[in-house]
Formats: sequence, C-alpha cells, structure tokens
Amino acid sequence: ATLQAPPLGGLLDDIVGKHRPRREAGSVPGNIPFLAEIPFDRFGIAVATTSGEVFSSGDAHVPFSIQSISKVFTLAMALQGGKAGALWQRVLREPSGTSFNSLVQLEVEHGIPRNPFINAGALVVTDHLMEEAPDAATQLLRFVTEQAGNGPEDTLPGPFIDEAAAASELARSSRNLALAHFLKDFGNLRRPAEAVVESYVRQCSIMMSCVELATAGLFLARDGQGARGSVLSPSEAKRIGSIMLTCGMYDAAGEFAYRVGLPGKSGVGGGILVIVPGKCTICVWSPRLDAKGNSLAGTAALAELSDLTGWSVF
Ligand code: GLU
Repeated sequence: ATLQAPPLGGLLDDIVGKHRPRREAGSVPGNIPFLAEIPFDRFGIAVATTSGEVFSSGDAHVPFSIQSISKVFTLAMALQGGKAGALWQRVLREPSGTSFNSLVQLEVEHGIPRNPFINAGALVVTDHLMEEAPDAATQLLRFVTEQAGNGPEDTLPGPFIDEAAAASELARSSRNLALAHFLKDFGNLRRPAEAVVESYVRQCSIMMSCVELATAGLFLARDGQGARGSVLSPSEAKRIGSIMLTCGMYDAAGEFAYRVGLPGKSGVGGGILVIVPGKCTICVWSPRLDAKGNSLAGTAALAELSDLTGWSVF
C-alpha cells in the first residue's frame, strides 16, 4: 500500500538530500584498499518497477564495486534450470550470526557453510559453477549485463570487471584462501582453492551502477521473469528472496529485517539491493559501512523509504 508519499521521483530526491553523508563516518574494508579512496559523500538510489519504469536520484549512474551483491546472482545462476544438483548438500540456508568471512562456523559444521551469502558459501557456489563454466566470473558478467539490459536509462560502459581492483584484493586474500583450503580439507571444494578464490574475487570486482543493479535484479521481484524471458521458476525466485531476508546482510540480517522489512543483499562496496516482490527492486549505494559491513547511509535511507511507501513483505 502506498501511504501519503510524494511521487517516487521527488521522494528519491528527498531521500538523497537527507541521507547523502555530510561528514566522514563509518568504516571501509581493510582488505580492499581502493574502496577507501571512494569519496565518503557518494550516495545514489534507483528503483526499477516490475512494469519497466526506472526512477533514480543522486549518484545512481556511477559504477561501484558490487562485492557481495554478486552472491545473489551467482546463486541464481547455480539454481537456473533446476540444475542446483548437489549444491544444497554442500551449503546450508541458515543465518550465520557471525561475520561474513568467519572461519569458526565452518569447523563446527564440518565444512558445510551456513548459507550461500557468506564468503565460505559463495566459494562453494563458485566451485559448483566452475564445473560447467571454468571462467565463472565472465559468465556472471554476461548474466548481469544481459539482465541490466539496454533500456533508455542505460549508461556506458555497462557492467565490467575492475581487474586492477581484483588483483589488489587477490594479493590480500589470505582469509578467503584460508576458507577455501578449509573447505577443501573437508572435501567440500572440487577445484584448487587458489582458482576458486581468484574467480570469486573477480566476481566481487564487477562494477555496476544503482540503475544497472536494480534493473538486473528485477527477475527476483517478477517471479523469476528477467529482461529476456524466464531466469528462474517462481519458486526458485521466492527461495532466493527468502535467503536474502534471512541471510543477506551478514550478521545484521535480523536488524535489517526489523528496520526495512524487505529481502536485501549488501556488499562491502556500500551497495544494497532490495526486492519488493511483485512491485520493484531498489538499489542504494553509499560507500561508508557500519560495524557489520553494511552501508551506513544506505540502510538508513532504505528504512525511511520503506516506512514512507509502505513497501514491505509484511
Ligand atoms: N570481496 C569481499 C571479501 O571477500 C566481499 C565481501 C563482502 O562484500 O561481503 O572479503
């Protein structure tokens, strides 16, 4: 239900005016140096509706590092065409309650990651995808480019992999390599640990704007229907939304569900992609993070937008 809110375009301008950071606050991830160089006052928001309209404001056309938002799309690729196969024997669907790159749980659960949206789970999904497509990162780039489409709002250069950023993160990947080797030791990784981490880091280094991400994620709000036909069955799309709601915001998923009431997935690049089933997708971006790794200004903006519009799954 729409409450007494101004028309969407004006509403997004108001959100940008209110939530664009005015002073440095929050943190940046230590293992990805180039993210610290992004000015703290960047803020963009885009809404893509299931009927094909796109509304945006602020830095909504500026490409940023999608980081963990990639995990939603790799999971979608893994589930496509009912070909999940043994994937669900290799990764659980429970909220982690520990940080996104934690090793602790992996030992307790005998090498089975808690969910596909923490690093250990995404490494298993990547390993699964690499069975059919050894270059899973390029495959993912193709997938998001196709879903982001060529609408009138389209901006050049379109999604791309920032190879320099990937190389710099790869040089600081001890923790992700540790996770991969741990998985391997438990027999839950088929490819060499180094190859899986390299592909995973390149997936995280895809650059997209809010407009492109909101558009690319539309199939999740549209029962699996993407830019060029069916991407997922309605029940698979529903399941990805469910995992986003319970596991999409690291160990702050409960807090985010409480404040926003919508399935979302964040990345340490400061982006958050949110699904309003049947209605629209929202992507917000602002680079400084809270203690759990979620965009500070982005989360606050989404909480306000959902209150103003009444958009929620509840
Ligand atoms: N590439 C980042 C890492 O593996 C992604 C983290 C994230 O966005 O959650 O540390």
